[in-house]
Amino acid sequence: MTTPSSLAGLNKAELAEKLVAIGVEPKKARMRAEQLWRWIYHYGVTDFAAMTNVAKDLRATLAERYTLARPELTAAQVSQDGTRKWLVRLAPGVEAECVFIPDVGRAGALCVSSQVGCTLNCTFCHTGTQKLVRNLTAQEIVAQVLIARDALTEWPTPERPLNDGDRQLTNIVFMGMGEPLYNLDHVAAAIDTISDGDGISISRRRITVSTAGVAPRIKELGERTGAMLAISLHATNDELRDQLVPLNKKYNLEELFAAIRTYPSLNNAKRVTFEYVMLKGVNDTLAEAKALVRLLAGIPAKINLIPFNPWPGAPYECSDWETIEKFAEVLNRAGYSSPIRTPRGRDILAACGQLRSESVKQRASERLKAEAS
Ligand code: SAH
Repeated sequence: MTTPSSLAGLNKAELAEKLVAIGVEPKKARMRAEQLWRWIYHYGVTDFAAMTNVAKDLRATLAERYTLARPELTAAQVSQDGTRKWLVRLAPGVEAECVFIPDVGRAGALCVSSQVGCTLNCTFCHTGTQKLVRNLTAQEIVAQVLIARDALTEWPTPERPLNDGDRQLTNIVFMGMGEPLYNLDHVAAAIDTISDGDGISISRRRITVSTAGVAPRIKELGERTGAMLAISLHATNDELRDQLVPLNKKYNLEELFAAIRTYPSLNNAKRVTFEYVMLKGVNDTLAEAKALVRLLAGIPAKINLIPFNPWPGAPYECSDWETIEKFAEVLNRAGYSSPIRTPRGRDILAACGQLRSESVKQRASERLKAEAS
């Protein structure tokens, strides 16, 4: 778990506070925080001793009071197709999953979680069968990226710089557990850290935030993060969407699309991704493909068709391959790029909608007891 004393995942202001707390003059804290920043987020160091441009006595004090520890991993799995999944322990009984998918985006994408559990209860999603445990902090979201970089061993060293072209992890998608727009403050803060050019340096254009459709926060997401927008659509009429994505009862398609049209700086180079899970006999007719085309009129868009990934007890089946291809053809003919997303990591339950941890919400008294032990 992230020990309370770990600095890994903090932002610059928080680092400066931690420095002041161990006696660094407030006026110098900012500059020192910049130095730490580069070691933590550009080089990924886990030992203060490696910070060669930081005074020796300060390094020693830092090591006495703080660590650069990552949260503990309770499981790490690799799929036959190279997808990797980590179960990250954030606190006693609080675990989140993140997944690295090679050959997605420019080189590879990390799918991060923003909450443990979820409140939305989408009927086809495994995470939706798990109650919300809690929001992740920005530090915990950033830690998922650090863990992936550690595991991929792609931190540069001062002697061995890493060229952009050599990177394996080039994209971040907020498509793990949880609804990012119900944790926007922490998601936005995490994106500030992840995209900072002196650190991890994954550009905002390569960070995608996916929402089930929290309409009133969509514009704000764009204004605060500059990230790419993805919408989990899955149905083209309110009646069906009410069933599949119950959040639709709160923000219906009309409201959702009005919000999407306000997303800042949409154009052909910055399109909205629409995710559409293919459910056999539920949402996969050609009439629905045509309805989808009408719905997207005027929005710079691309469509990701996601073959439904089964999970134990799921009440749906995946559409037949032929049906998916015909559906895609209608979209392609209308001029939309609509790749069929190859299921990745299904064998380790790492594919879209398969994430679910055993974490449950603890009563405060139990939590305190566990933390004290
Ligand atoms: N709550 C956000 C972030 C989660 S993204 C959102 O809904 O967008 C996870 C993506 O996987 C969503 O597009 C979701 O609809 C999709 N998904 C969920 N369960 C799935 C399943 N069993 N098979 C395929 N895709 C699924």
